[in-house]
Amino acid sequence: MTGQVLFDSHVAILLDTAVSLVNVLTDGGDRGKPYAAPKGGALPGAIRAVLPGGVPVSPEEALYLAGTTLKVRRVFEAMDEGREDDAAAVVNALVISTGARPQLDRAPGEPWQVHFHGADDSLAVGWSAGIASALTLAIGSDLGGRLGVCQARQCDRVYVDASRNGVRQFCSRSCQSRTKAAAFRARTAARHSAG
Ligand SMILES: [Zn+2]
Repeated sequence: MTGQVLFDSHVAILLDTAVSLVNVLTDGGDRGKPYAAPKGGALPGAIRAVLPGGVPVSPEEALYLAGTTLKVRRVFEAMDEGREDDAAAVVNALVISTGARPQLDRAPGEPWQVHFHGADDSLAVGWSAGIASALTLAIGSDLGGRLGVCQARQCDRVYVDASRNGVRQFCSRSCQSRTKAAAFRARTAARHSAG
């Protein structure tokens, strides 16, 4: 639970799911290697593996969620680059297209909780609406800066920074240590060439 410290647990789960979807479903670099996202027939299974609950995903739902995920990546990139207006425009469009709305839900014996729903409760629209709602709460609070893109070479995986001081720069420990090692080698090489 990366966002648990900062966000309400429902929101934290939605943001964690957004991160997982972006990192599995979008092409780019992953911890130093080129990354090609699953496509076509591999898509539903890849999404099923990411969504909490492990429920089956139809090909149509998978395409819808893949479309949402491309927009969510644009939001993380915009926030990482300080383009908050661009991020807000994408999130607002997602809120409208999914019909995102809050609703009070309760499990038997539990207190009422705020959950987010979409225009319908299908898997694809429900998750898309929930993620759009969680992004409005993150960007509309002082936690928008917590949405980040990995700064390591050949990596553009995204993350939610739940560190106390908000200084995270990398998607993973692996990218952090790879970048540190590269900086160390560069410093050593510079010292040798200077001496
Ligand atoms: Zn990384």
